[in-house]
Amino acid sequence: MRVAMLSMHTSPLAALGGRETGGMNVYVREVAAQLAALGVEVDVFTRRIDAATPEIQELGNGARLVNVTAGAVERLEKEELPPLVGAFADGVEAFRAHEAVQYDLVHSHYWLSVAAGDLLVQRWDVPHIAMFHTLGDVKLRARASEHESPERLETERRVVHALDRIVAATVHERQLLKQLYGVSPSKVAVIPLGVNLELFQQGDRAAARAVLGIPANDRLVLAVGRIEPLKGFDILVRALAEMTVEHVHLALVGGDERASAEQERLLAVARELGIEDRVHLVGAVPHERLRLYYQAADAVAVPSFYESFGLVAVEAMASGIPVVASRVGGLTSTITDGRTGYLIPWRCPSPFAEKLDLLFQNIPLRDALGANAAQAMQAYSWQSVASALLDQYSALIAERVAPAAAGGA
Ligand code: UDP
Repeated sequence: MRVAMLSMHTSPLAALGGRETGGMNVYVREVAAQLAALGVEVDVFTRRIDAATPEIQELGNGARLVNVTAGAVERLEKEELPPLVGAFADGVEAFRAHEAVQYDLVHSHYWLSVAAGDLLVQRWDVPHIAMFHTLGDVKLRARASEHESPERLETERRVVHALDRIVAATVHERQLLKQLYGVSPSKVAVIPLGVNLELFQQGDRAAARAVLGIPANDRLVLAVGRIEPLKGFDILVRALAEMTVEHVHLALVGGDERASAEQERLLAVARELGIEDRVHLVGAVPHERLRLYYQAADAVAVPSFYESFGLVAVEAMASGIPVVASRVGGLTSTITDGRTGYLIPWRCPSPFAEKLDLLFQNIPLRDALGANAAQAMQAYSWQSVASALLDQYSALIAERVAPAAAGGA
């Protein structure tokens, strides 16, 4: 089986924590390598952003990343990419023709790739499966102030009906697809994301802190993610100011040079509250090193307005750290309130402060929730995500072949 996986706007090998590099990059990289381990020939296509990168890169177990030229060979803002969708699809087709191979299926990620994939499956007459990671209408619903381009909204409303299968991270997302777009649940496969359990494990808090230079007696709340308003980090800065436990520090991991305006906004909130000495903007941390940050933390907070799944929460729990998170999207499926962390129904600082205080005043409680969390996360792995995807691929390919065979008989 040969699969063309599309990740047009961001490369699975890009450094994580930038404006456009987070859960989806991890997903594509992990799933491509695990599918390849199951014997699938996987080519992942992304838009070339620099001339020096070779055309083909290795993603693990023989899965390949193909850099396709579409538009200027430089990093472009997501808003500049819609006119390049056709050129991107042409580039994928040119690669296929040059290699003289046939793909059996297209698997697209995010709406730009889905639009490109839609063009390709019409040429190739193969099934199209997609994961949106986020949907414009869902984001708008979660946070009214968020702006989404009419082009994105219209494209998503159209392509959801053209797809043969949509992969949703949760049952909740499947319901939203029905409610907001009228997509039949039979077209949606619910496959939760995974976590790299070899990387994210329980560790020694003191040892991790010694490596990172974090004082042993500080209380540390950790938050990790792309620095954007949807992540709700300002709520957490305000929560820190409301906490009654003293000497609590907040480390905020994530953000590249383009995050400076949002980082400045967060620091301004901290200054206004007089807690700037306890708010640390760490910047992006490579995935492999992030494990130390989780292990060093007393609690991880995820105050997002929306998360379709929320890998950070799962990584933190796998590391034995309780999570205090908004009761939204995928977080409600991965966190068990009162057992592996706390789910906060309101996007406001006080309940976050209250739960963090509770955990920090009661260390045995913190440790018990952390241990429960680590145990619960053993159910998530990228291997099982890949094998569930392979089942979907096989079914879709068989469905496509069956009517053709019947017609020919
Ligand atoms: N991440 C990272 N380094 C950073 C910031 C984020 O490795 O500096 C990773 C993090 O470990 C997680 C992903 O980026 O795997 C973020 O995924 P999540 O689902 O939490 O958020 P999304 O990016 O999908 O909104």
